[in-house]
Amino acid sequence: MDLVSYADLAVELVNTREPAVDALRDLDTLRSLLLIRPHLMGRVTSRDLEAMRQLRHDLRSVFEAAAAGAVDRAADGVNQLLLRHPIHPALSNHDGQEWHLHLSEDGSVPDRYAAGAAMGLSLVVGARGFRALGVCAADDCDNVFLADGSGKRRRYCSPACRKRSGGQ
Ligand SMILES: [Zn+2]
Repeated sequence: MDLVSYADLAVELVNTREPAVDALRDLDTLRSLLLIRPHLMGRVTSRDLEAMRQLRHDLRSVFEAAAAGAVDRAADGVNQLLLRHPIHPALSNHDGQEWHLHLSEDGSVPDRYAAGAAMGLSLVVGARGFRALGVCAADDCDNVFLADGSGKRRRYCSPACRKRSGGQ
């Protein structure tokens, strides 16, 4: 997993808040979010669930500020997260791979998740600018997404949302 792809953690967590049913409503739904990230797995309690919901809120605010062009506010949001959840890099050669840079697996699940998401977002913004952070413009969709940041600003999370909204 390269370090930029940690930004996907932010997108995946924010997008658990769906209009119809909250996909982060109890410990089971939190565990299924973590299933695809075995290195983030760990014992979780209801306090961790609360922390993850708070983190989801904070990350959404960053995407919303970026999409509204309020880049200072977006940067401030990322910096707050980086301060609150410092990253602890570590070399790893898991699963027979070459030694590569990873985040340490110490600490609580929400702390590690937040550190990874904030660092990934920082790398994305450093490479592509805040234009890369988007909130879907479809009326019935709350999703956030990462765009490549070049050309015209992307407005929809998916081709399906663009088509439904009659957008380009
Ligand atoms: Zn959408």
